[in-house]
Amino acid sequence: VASVALDRLVGADRAGLFLDFDGTLSEIVRIPSEARPLPDVPELLDLLDRRFAVVAVVSGRSAVELVDWLGPGVEIWGVHGAERNVDGRVVLSDHAARYAELMSRVRDEATEAVAMLDLPGVVIEDKRVMVGLHFRAAEDPDEAKRALEELAARLSSKYGLTRAGGRLAFELRPPIEFSKRRVVLDRARGAHLQAAAFVGDDRVDIPAFDALDELEAGGVTTVRIAVNSTEAPPELLERADVVVPGPAGVVKLLRSLLEMV
Ligand SMILES: [Mg+2]
Repeated sequence: VASVALDRLVGADRAGLFLDFDGTLSEIVRIPSEARPLPDVPELLDLLDRRFAVVAVVSGRSAVELVDWLGPGVEIWGVHGAERNVDGRVVLSDHAARYAELMSRVRDEATEAVAMLDLPGVVIEDKRVMVGLHFRAAEDPDEAKRALEELAARLSSKYGLTRAGGRLAFELRPPIEFSKRRVVLDRARGAHLQAAAFVGDDRVDIPAFDALDELEAGGVTTVRIAVNSTEAPPELLERADVVVPGPAGVVKLLRSLLEMV
């Protein structure tokens, strides 16, 4: 993949490469726990990390899985920046850690409420600093959805939380921004990057492109790389400087980056 945009990235003194995981470094799979990086990905990330100031994977997934699959040496931001990898150990990121106690209280209260409501099949997911209320597997999903929506509304107003989701589950989050935008901005500024690139395939990657716009306004050289698939959102493709075909195209791009540096 030859491109002026990539030349500018590689030519910068302090360059950062940020990558999504699912659909970017791994093929999309039906069962999320069965995703794996393409075979050469861990090695390529390791090699690139020696030449770039920052190489980081930023995902909505739990960081534990990603550490397992990519190795302890890769910089990983999980749950949209709530978790990070420190030498193979997953810890809450600084801004998430401040809410750990509150969210554990919310989780206990949600668990108690669900037990009282008697909703068989409802699952409360512990995402450490977030709480998932899953109604998809409930015996009566419609009834469960209604009850959990009410519960989510009550808890979020009581504790000042943010609510997300709605299709398969509701999610309660602390009232701070967890997004790829926040991770890219903070990390790029913290590392004084002069150039930054993001590679992603999905709607949740658009905020990372927003981060690059903000960095560019501050004089940083930026490259937006979109992974094309049948489900790629048009906005992501339109805003991309470089479009690559599927995760295999990303691997090819990583290889050419290595040859360029
Ligand atoms: Mg993705």
